[in-house]
Amino acid sequence: MSDPEPVDAFELADDEWLARLGPDRYAVLRQQATEGPYTGAYADYADTGDTGVYRCAGCGVGLFSSETKYHSGSGWPSFWIPMNDKVVEERSDASHGMVRTEVACSRCGGHLGHVFNDGPAPTGSRYCINSLALEFDRSDSEA
Ligand code: FE
Repeated sequence: MSDPEPVDAFELADDEWLARLGPDRYAVLRQQATEGPYTGAYADYADTGDTGVYRCAGCGVGLFSSETKYHSGSGWPSFWIPMNDKVVEERSDASHGMVRTEVACSRCGGHLGHVFNDGPAPTGSRYCINSLALEFDRSDSEA
């Protein structure tokens, strides 16, 4: 794993986000929507041995390595650790009658998903991430 790179802010106006992302990605990344379980492109993806980086679909920063993706059975792509502690922000989310920990992209502020404490060793964390918030980059496993 490479050293954390500085994360510069990536900011757009709301209408620019919608134009850049399209309605489905916009709803997740900018409006905290959750895609349906098993509907996302990456829910069961990368069981083929493909290695690479899952990048933020909003700004392109590398968020998760395929090497830390695992089968949680939840219907969403699941990872046990981000690429480094600079690329994601975690904040309390009390919406929908639950207290959860939201995971957002540090660079663009985009909503990614939530993190739970029922993941596998060595972290015990389950980063439960929307496929719509991600873009798989098979070419660059060290970014
Ligand atoms: Fe981002």
